[in-house]
Amino acid sequence: MTMRHGRGFDDLESRLADLRRRDMYRVRRNLEGPQGREVTLEGHAFLNFSSNDYLGLAGDPRVAEAFKRGIDRWGTGTGASHLISGHTAAHEELEEALAAFTGRPRALLYGSGYAANVGVINALLSVGDFVFQDRLNHASLLDGGWISRATFTWFEHGDSADLEAKLAAVDHEPTRKLIVSDGTFSMDGDACRLDELVAASARHRAWVLIDDAHGMGVHGRSGVGVVDPERYATTDVPVLVGTLGKAFGTAGAFVAGEDALIETLIQRSRNYIFTTAMPSALAVATQKSLEIAVTEDWRREHLVTLIDRFRAGTRDLGFDLLPSTSPIQPLVVGDPARALGLSRALKQRGFLIGAIRPPTVPEGTSRLRVTLTAAHSVADVDSLLDTLSTLAACWSRASAS
Ligand SMILES: *Cc1c(COP(=O)(O)O)cnc(C)c1O
Repeated sequence: MTMRHGRGFDDLESRLADLRRRDMYRVRRNLEGPQGREVTLEGHAFLNFSSNDYLGLAGDPRVAEAFKRGIDRWGTGTGASHLISGHTAAHEELEEALAAFTGRPRALLYGSGYAANVGVINALLSVGDFVFQDRLNHASLLDGGWISRATFTWFEHGDSADLEAKLAAVDHEPTRKLIVSDGTFSMDGDACRLDELVAASARHRAWVLIDDAHGMGVHGRSGVGVVDPERYATTDVPVLVGTLGKAFGTAGAFVAGEDALIETLIQRSRNYIFTTAMPSALAVATQKSLEIAVTEDWRREHLVTLIDRFRAGTRDLGFDLLPSTSPIQPLVVGDPARALGLSRALKQRGFLIGAIRPPTVPEGTSRLRVTLTAAHSVADVDSLLDTLSTLAACWSRASAS
């Protein structure tokens, strides 16, 4: 396609048409009610297996009540960035709670996980430094690495031997090295091999950044996530990123670590400095959801029951499962058209499950990304399994072709 570039949008139109032809076109759905076990769409109720609201807190009335109380106390907007006049005692309190939760000296709030990842990598690395990224890392981590202008190196997914070989190749370089990994991988649901990453970082004088967007609230003692402070010192994983829009059911993100890291971010992280502080009421609401997430162990226990049941059921139906013990349980079908077809067939039967296609996942691995939440019942999972069973016949016919 060597179309001469003009002033109109003809070339955009032709690229959009191309996306449609390849079943890669993305559309948004307008939900007509709150996030939860059931969502309303086009006037109908759907059982929702497509959110990251793992603990079912996005619609929790106690969190909503805290949000309203926060607005009464703080108003809606903060009116400025944290460094001008937008930083409040509500932010400070939440940061202290997040530091205590992660067992680290300090935490710093960001507007989103995307901003935190780009912001922290850029504050730490620049030209001449090195960043090592797992093949399946989240887009925000990759973007952070690219924008930093550090030398960017991939390592094969979960392959610490590959990582070590690549680290060894630059052992003689005196500059900064950062190993970057999702804690729980967002599209596959498997956990990183943290012991191996930490060992590699110790042998090759590198830092480790773990983005535990999908692990926090869900895994470990009190939902502390993949980086349990009883097992890992802050120096083992100096940079820990968590998001608040997933298991914690609100929005925003944070970085947790030592004072020198947090102060460096405040001085140098552009995504922290040049942006309006999140509403204080959101910080108040998040403090409530954090408290619920930590104390209500039954949510995590119930999730484990649902995950085991879903995996056993889909295995019986002949689906190939990925090695995930998390609420992310993808059914990989390969072709984007097939993933879309299955997603549509499930929707006709009352289930909302997203088809995930490239570039979010590698070519040839399009999938249904089933996510379970503590708001689901065992009966909900069983009804999804029943429906998958009716569709499995067509599915295996299609995959045999
Ligand atoms: C969702 C996600 C993010 C982005 O977080 P937001 O707060 O939604 O911007 C970052 N990292 C990972 C691994 C994620 O899954």
